[in-house]
Amino acid sequence: MGGTSMGSKTINMFGDIPRKTARVMMHMTDCGISDFVDGYQCAIFQCKKCGSESGWLHGFKTVTEVKRGIPCDECNKKVEK
Ligand SMILES: [Zn+2]
Repeated sequence: MGGTSMGSKTINMFGDIPRKTARVMMHMTDCGISDFVDGYQCAIFQCKKCGSESGWLHGFKTVTEVKRGIPCDECNKKVEK
């Protein structure tokens, strides 16, 4: 028993994680029923990272979709280049 046989089978657990999950999302700050698109939700989103606001966006089918948030254009621009 014993001996240092490390390195014969190196598994890189931390180096190659895709960065897609690092997308910055804007979160809903206010929502309601859309005046423009019948039967749809509208909502305002704000990014907690850069503080930018989306303004009223229309055309969300479900509240779930609104709660999920939308990707922040500003922050993701910087990440993806
Ligand atoms: Zn942002």
